[in-house]
Amino acid sequence: MRILVVEDELLVADGLKQGLTQLGYTVDVAGSAEEAERFIQFEDFDLALVDIGLPKADGLHFIKQLRAQSKNFPVLVLTARDSMEDTVNGLDAGADDYLTKPYRLPEIAARIRALIRRSNSIADACLRHNGLCLDTRSRAATLDAIPLDLTNREWAILELLLMASPAVVSKDKLVQSLAGWDKDITQNAIEVHVSRLRTKLSHGNVTIRTIRGIGYRVDAPDN
Ligand code: CA
Repeated sequence: MRILVVEDELLVADGLKQGLTQLGYTVDVAGSAEEAERFIQFEDFDLALVDIGLPKADGLHFIKQLRAQSKNFPVLVLTARDSMEDTVNGLDAGADDYLTKPYRLPEIAARIRALIRRSNSIADACLRHNGLCLDTRSRAATLDAIPLDLTNREWAILELLLMASPAVVSKDKLVQSLAGWDKDITQNAIEVHVSRLRTKLSHGNVTIRTIRGIGYRVDAPDN
């Protein structure tokens, strides 16, 4: 999952980047609305954390731009302003949720998980599939009740595939999602991660199919 943090205070931005990276997210930081607008032209994100008070154009302006361009990923507004008017303006501009400073990482993380689940129409905090369970809160994975030891990249790939299932996830989307950890990640590297994932999943009933020339798919769960 790739998150765009739009925050002009370096300390806050660094803290968010560090904390969210430790939780397994890929994080890009933009220090202004202008920089954030450039990011969204070229990159795909799963969610944005947006500070309202930014140097030139403010966060509300950025959110309006985002929605005007039909970028529909969830937006969580983070701001020092705690007036009711700002809350209403943020939500009216197209934000999905709102947190006022000072905020704590566990609360931000919980809201992020909820927003990503909602945007993928998933009601459960666990992603389940034919005996496979990814608990997005604890980041523990099990297959047929046996713990799976997944690297951050393997987790990220599997999470994207399960959220999209039974749709195909393109290799390009996977490269974009993992790019924050490894700027030079290639489609070949994705193939290597998928191959290792297949080995780790081989004792169960979860199959990652290669859709030639496009990407990968996990078929719909058996019922
Ligand atoms: Ca600010």
